[in-house]
Amino acid sequence: MREQLRKLPGVDNLLKTIEVKDLLAEYGHELTVGGIRGLLDEVRAAIVSGVPCPSSSALIARVVERVEELGRPTLWPVINATGVILHTNLGRAPLSEATIAAMEEAGRSYSNLEYNLETGNRGSRYAHAERLLCQLTGAEAALLVNNNAGAVLLVLSALARGYEVIISRGQLVEIGGGFRIPDVMAQSGAQLVEVGTTNRTYIGDYANAINVDTALLMRVHTSNFHVSGFTHAASLTEMVELGHTKGIPVVDDLGSGTLIDTSSFGLAHEPTVQESLSEGADLVTFSGDKLLGGPQAGIIVGRKDLIATIRHFPLTRALRVDKTTIAGVQANLLHYLKGKAIEEIPLWRMITRPLEEIEARAQAMARKLCDEGWAAKAVEGRSAVGGGSLPGQTIPTWLVALECESPDDLAHKLRQGKPPVVARIEEDVLLLDLRTVPLEQEEPLLGSLISSRKL
Ligand SMILES: *Cc1c(COP(=O)(O)O)cnc(C)c1O
Repeated sequence: MREQLRKLPGVDNLLKTIEVKDLLAEYGHELTVGGIRGLLDEVRAAIVSGVPCPSSSALIARVVERVEELGRPTLWPVINATGVILHTNLGRAPLSEATIAAMEEAGRSYSNLEYNLETGNRGSRYAHAERLLCQLTGAEAALLVNNNAGAVLLVLSALARGYEVIISRGQLVEIGGGFRIPDVMAQSGAQLVEVGTTNRTYIGDYANAINVDTALLMRVHTSNFHVSGFTHAASLTEMVELGHTKGIPVVDDLGSGTLIDTSSFGLAHEPTVQESLSEGADLVTFSGDKLLGGPQAGIIVGRKDLIATIRHFPLTRALRVDKTTIAGVQANLLHYLKGKAIEEIPLWRMITRPLEEIEARAQAMARKLCDEGWAAKAVEGRSAVGGGSLPGQTIPTWLVALECESPDDLAHKLRQGKPPVVARIEEDVLLLDLRTVPLEQEEPLLGSLISSRKL
């Protein structure tokens, strides 16, 4: 073992090799030397436990691999072959070309982010997306923040801290990632007043709970589950009627929110922002990156006086959006304003992708894979919208089904691929749904599949 340890080169010797010199040039001293030290520690420990010292070429190869890994960001593109269109863990909505271009431009250059070019005075970053949002939704005012969880927290904090907010027991939801309405309420300093039961809440339940401390009536869209059977929820119209006779604002957290009626694509109806406002909600909150299909953002639209109060509340500063987000949200909203959302926004293109097109692509890919020696065939299946919208709603699709000894092993190998591929497994078959795979990712997908066999 001692002898084996002596064979192990030191940091200085490695730094003299041509490969490591290249690493130094590209990655700098810190990363290269850090990588070498870490690796040598590991190899030394391995030798002590009886593993022979690796050859110097093997060692250098490992150094190169290690330093390249250290010098890479941890966030990188993956191919989403799950067929879940708004996959929160995979970053929700891919962005449109115009949105990407706008974000890039805003990143590269100075901008009039908080500068009024007319007067030369300070302007407001919150003014930018407001006109577009008002035009699209019919709201009096709008405010853009970091995400919808932030929007909900902000509305409750700014308007109901120290007061009561009435909400149906059927709407005390958990969105995922630990975002629970009762916890957000507690965090905001507002007191939650639950009314009704899990399955049935009437407008009278709200009416009975109103007192001098009531600040808001709140409706939360049950965006990720479905109740059926003996159920009743008070309608937004009823809540608005009650709230307005008592002088209490009604807040509607739509979660996803959409500007386009999903029922025109054979899906269930997801409530639109315009509907909530025209039914009289005083404030509506929704996400920028669910069915809107844009960058992560939280959007609050509604009454001008309430939005003004929220805008001046200190927490708003902590949830403020970056210039690249503002640029991206505006570019994305412009697709809707121009009537081009379905063509331009990837989310809608995926939702409306013709079944025949997916079938043809799945058949072609299955054939190519069979030629490569796989047991692959195209089969019918379902895609999901996902991401806290349209729970349980699926769209017919075609899948590439891969039979193999261990689908779990194959899925693991595919996740380690370059690029990584995320697939799904059903009944011991690995399935690839091309609805969520854009055409330009098909070649890399095939490449990852083919090289997964060699791993
Ligand atoms: C998704 C969702 C949120 C949180 O929105 P994010 O944009 O993920 O922060 C809040 N409320 C409801 C009802 C939701 O569905």
